[in-house]
Amino acid sequence: MFPLRLKEGPEPIFPACSGEIRRSVRMAKSKKGEDKDMGKVAIYPGSFDPITYGHIDVVERALEIFDKVIVAIAVNEEKRPLFSVEERLHMVKAFFKDTPKVIVDSFKGLLVDYVAKTNAIVILRGLRATSDFEYEFHMASMNRSLDTHLDTLFMMTSKDYFFVSSRTIKEVARLGGAVEGLVPDLVVRRLREKFKLPVTKKKHIRWDD
Ligand code: ADP
Repeated sequence: MFPLRLKEGPEPIFPACSGEIRRSVRMAKSKKGEDKDMGKVAIYPGSFDPITYGHIDVVERALEIFDKVIVAIAVNEEKRPLFSVEERLHMVKAFFKDTPKVIVDSFKGLLVDYVAKTNAIVILRGLRATSDFEYEFHMASMNRSLDTHLDTLFMMTSKDYFFVSSRTIKEVARLGGAVEGLVPDLVVRRLREKFKLPVTKKKHIRWDD
């Protein structure tokens, strides 16, 4: 995913990186990790299609360690996302609107190239189960081979969210299941709109039919 250069597609909303990020970078000193104004910055890349409380929990715990976290939404149309980048940006920004320590942006292409435009010192990723490990291990190794100074930090999922993934949230929501408490309210509403869910009436199944 991230180490691969993406096919040419529509221009991202922030062609190189957003004004917000550029401002942050201007504030920063030239060498990574030596920034006095920004402090320690971690970059949390992912699809966030859509953002869940599992992602949010990782961000909130990372803020105990880092001064800023950049939530970086990957533009990858090959993954056939349910939500457009604009929709995903809107949902993530809405959730963190009162958290200035979180910067929300999108990027296209190699993650290492994007990281180089910021003053992040580490890539942040979450780990749910052993099944995540192999993929994450390969990604982290590839990113490190592309940029030998770049490390990936993994945060173990919380017990409350170990079963939460964007994919299962979409599957459950598509079938009309309740995802309240697992994703922010705005995401619940957007999922309902996306799947055009009708208001369902309870139907009793008669076993003697
Ligand atoms: P990707 O498409 O890159 O896998 P995701 O948006 O699915 O992106 O996830 C981004 C990161 O967040 C990944 O490292 C993933 O393992 C992690 N993550 C997703 N859900 C959870 C969760 N419930 N608990 C902890 N980490 C999670």
